[in-house]
Amino acid sequence: MTTSDLDLFFDPSRCFIGGEWVLANGQETLPLENPSTGEILAHIPRGRAADIDAAVVAAPAAHHGEWGRMPAAERGRILARIGHKVLERVDDLARLEALDVGKPLRQARADALALARYMEFYGGAADKLMGETIPYQAGYTVYTLREPHGVTGHIIPWNYPMQVIGRSVGGALCMGNAAVLKPAEEACLTAIAFAAIAEEAGLPRGALNVVPGLGEEAGAALSVHPGVNHLSFTGSVGVGMLVQQAAARNVVPVTLELGGKSPQLVFADADLQRALPFLVNAGIQNAGQTCSAASRILVQRPVYEAVLERLAERYRALEVGPAMADLDVGPLVSARQHEIVSGFLADLGGARIVARGHVADSVPAGGHYFAPALVAGADPGNRLAQDEIFGPVQVVIPFDDEADAVRIANGTDYGLVAGIWTADGARQMRLARAIRSGQVFINNYGAGGGVELPFGGTGRSGHGREKGLEALYGFSVLKTVAAWHG
Ligand code: NAD
Repeated sequence: MTTSDLDLFFDPSRCFIGGEWVLANGQETLPLENPSTGEILAHIPRGRAADIDAAVVAAPAAHHGEWGRMPAAERGRILARIGHKVLERVDDLARLEALDVGKPLRQARADALALARYMEFYGGAADKLMGETIPYQAGYTVYTLREPHGVTGHIIPWNYPMQVIGRSVGGALCMGNAAVLKPAEEACLTAIAFAAIAEEAGLPRGALNVVPGLGEEAGAALSVHPGVNHLSFTGSVGVGMLVQQAAARNVVPVTLELGGKSPQLVFADADLQRALPFLVNAGIQNAGQTCSAASRILVQRPVYEAVLERLAERYRALEVGPAMADLDVGPLVSARQHEIVSGFLADLGGARIVARGHVADSVPAGGHYFAPALVAGADPGNRLAQDEIFGPVQVVIPFDDEADAVRIANGTDYGLVAGIWTADGARQMRLARAIRSGQVFINNYGAGGGVELPFGGTGRSGHGREKGLEALYGFSVLKTVAAWHG
């Protein structure tokens, strides 16, 4: 299936800059691959520095103009309208994302619904964030204002384009910023579609600009542009470092949402019946290409063998196939990603593969299919237990007691999400504090959770928070006004 089989409501070969649909300045395009088949799905613009510059120049007109001056309630109404239009198009968007990213259709649909929900949430929040009055000296009235940064830059990855647009661009627009979005070159159809929907919903010109292109061209140009007042980057640790360095040149604040090696801790007293589906789903969702994938499962020794066997059973039943076939797992996003994930299994360093899923018969030859793998026997220091694999591979590690569990859980450079499975309430509270991560789920696991839940990392998982109301503090600047009136 290609985009020509779909009823496209936008032109994927154009950038959206200042309210106009334009070809990239150099008129060059990049091929976009369907990971399920290896076929070319569409051609997207190869935006470069000149296109980023045009977008950053167009954005202040919105920020200082109609969009920035609009009453907050009206701004919120437009965002909510975008959410409603996303809902009307939910099946189109799901198909686009499934074709583009390779994720099973149901998962892509959940992402489209999440995008709608973000726009509803931030639409509702637009007139809710208030300043404070501050008791000061006699004769003064002091208060604070929450103001937009101005132009916000958003560089996003290919794995969850709609979710990341919702939480990042949604939060920025909510506060009255004008956004410039650089989606990933591997998957960006829904980013361009989102611009078309926002335009249809009446978002003023220049409030949202979308410039697809390569990371080292368009992405690098956006991160270093002096006209950008805030940067939100979601992606790999290495590129996050580059973006932070680039932002430092303009003294611009940055939110970094990077990778993870998130653990789930399963104690002997856990409700295993409830835990098991979460344990596996959190590792194989989107073929494990999820920053908050629970790629490590830590199990207390008395139940270790029993849990390992039940996980293995589930793994042996997992089916991998094309996104549109909507099986448990889709293909990896690219040949490169397939090579990276396969590389991890080529060198087990003493660990062993306990069980694998299977790739369905007669999948298209050009797809990047990878049978999920459950690994055991890895020393906690083994790179399979330390590095982000970004594929459907979970490592199961035994632990003795609470202290041991915390030591292993905190024993990587990352700290994004953790899951704790235990019936002991006091232990739940102790561990929620002891574990170093941006989110902790107790007797559930949400791979980031709902739109209401602040999300972000510690350590190499990044800094700053998106999602929930918390994001709005990052997407705004606090101004203190001290008035002397005698
Ligand atoms: P990536 O860092 O290669 O790319 C992310 C984005 O950065 C893309 O748009 C890319 O074009 C751009 N980019 C690449 N080089 C650049 C440069 N020199 N300057 C500016 N921009 C550049 O990451 P990826 O492989 O697309 O995504 C996978 C990574 O993203 C994983 O590490 C994953 O954990 C992480 N991720 C994190 C979250 C989170 O919220 N924490 C969410 C999704 C993905």
